[in-house]
Amino acid sequence: MKPDFEVGIVGAGFAGLVAALSLKKAGKESFVIFERAGEIGGTWRDNIYPGCACDVAVHLYSFGAVPNARWSNLYAGQPEILSYLKDVSVRCELQKHIRLNSDIVAAKFLEEESYWLTTDRMGRETSVSVLLLGLGPLNRPFLPSLKGLNEFGGHYFHTSQWDRNFDPTGKRVAVIGTGASAIQVVPNIAPVVKYLTVIQRTPAWVTHRFDKKIGKTCKDVYQRFPVAQRFKREFIYWINELFGLAFIGNKTLNKVMAWTALRKLRNEVKDATTRKKLTPAYTIGCKRILKSDDYYPTFNRDNVSLVAEGIDRFTQLGILTNDGKEHLLDAVIFATGFVAADLDLYINVVGLQGRNLVDEWKTTGAQAYLGTTVAGYPHLAVLLGPNTGLGHNSILHMIESQMNYIIQYIDCIEKSGAEAYIDLKESVQHVYNERIQAQLKKTVWASGCKSWYMNSNGKNTTLYPGLTVTFRKETRKFDPRVYQKVRRPALVL
Ligand code: NAP
Repeated sequence: MKPDFEVGIVGAGFAGLVAALSLKKAGKESFVIFERAGEIGGTWRDNIYPGCACDVAVHLYSFGAVPNARWSNLYAGQPEILSYLKDVSVRCELQKHIRLNSDIVAAKFLEEESYWLTTDRMGRETSVSVLLLGLGPLNRPFLPSLKGLNEFGGHYFHTSQWDRNFDPTGKRVAVIGTGASAIQVVPNIAPVVKYLTVIQRTPAWVTHRFDKKIGKTCKDVYQRFPVAQRFKREFIYWINELFGLAFIGNKTLNKVMAWTALRKLRNEVKDATTRKKLTPAYTIGCKRILKSDDYYPTFNRDNVSLVAEGIDRFTQLGILTNDGKEHLLDAVIFATGFVAADLDLYINVVGLQGRNLVDEWKTTGAQAYLGTTVAGYPHLAVLLGPNTGLGHNSILHMIESQMNYIIQYIDCIEKSGAEAYIDLKESVQHVYNERIQAQLKKTVWASGCKSWYMNSNGKNTTLYPGLTVTFRKETRKFDPRVYQKVRRPALVL
């Protein structure tokens, strides 16, 4: 029996939309995008906290084939990115492919049929020849289990579950965490709150952002001569690649980055004690480097304090820190990040002989070949799968590279005919991952800090240990020899 669609994509965030655009470009129109929410946009739909923006410049953090000449700033805010995504889905006629409110809970590869059967929360089943998982790595909020939280009489929530009804004006607020989300929230609520307590466990490395408005003339030039914006995109891309060297072994560049960041800290924070607390004691880049020009100056305000003494417990009135001080609070914002490295997929993905991807990855740590295909799970590809994350450049470049590969993979599946399926060789996956893990040991991420890049067993399952240009090279040409062709068993009727 023929499946309902040639390709099924789970998730209509950036990854799913890149996949859809690539399929269209390759002339493949038989695909469906399952989206669990009532709206597209993934992380850019979910994260609505004040100041939410992208720290990759817009010319690069956008689809290469669908540029936008009207970006307002070099770094776009969440509302603008979300409206860009919606606009692209209309302009590129993706809407007819998108099934909203379709929360896929299970996907099973049917060997006899040689296709995937997906089931959504309502029990609706859809069969697809090839399944692409575009679930996004940063959508499972991490809320630390802190003593006494249930006693706290104030309001609290996670940055990615921002309460739209919450007005911080005139309130005593604490932000727990000093990662990428926190450094955007903090300067944006500080001017309106009564008092802001920033609770830091580990100081982050913060570098310049240099955001600026894109003027009308510039926009008009981009509109009339798209090549100018294309040039800017390339320029930013190669600068980012250059800085990427600091993460993968170039010690001089790494030292220059650290020196620049410390200088920025010295220039921007007046109080010496606060400066000391904000000074990181680990190698720059080990945790994600944060770009901000308004985070440090926030600590010069009279209504903001940095608390680095550690949380003892919540009380009914606030937070008691390890120095015995009780901070009286009306609200607490958990900017405590996400569970990412365990790649707990929240979909029950069942491959050959009943193998379960989530269970396997729990035991071995998430792994795939080129971060994309997985042995034992034929005709499946994971967008932004294991070890495809970055610390230095646009993640969209990685997804586009994956799609170069996946399009060829789909062609190979089609060529293998209805009587067979193709499955990645276990040995190939094993050798690839041994290499990735060996390379990671030489990078800045193995220099000793604790970050969300590592899973609960201390294995880095998230980051790619090279430049994006290398990944593009690795994914450029699909090699059918790393797959085995398996004759599908006869269908028992
Ligand atoms: P994050 O970078 O993981 O930061 C979480 C923060 O919470 C850290 O400072 C962490 O401290 C702290 N924390 C966790 N548990 C704690 C506890 N029990 N007590 C005190 N502090 C605790 O999370 P995020 O800021 O949400 O960012 C996650 C990722 O999302 C980023 O790395 C980035 O990839 C992405 N993001 C991107 C942008 C963008 O501009 N493109 C914006 C936001 C987020 P420790 O450091 O000590 O663990």
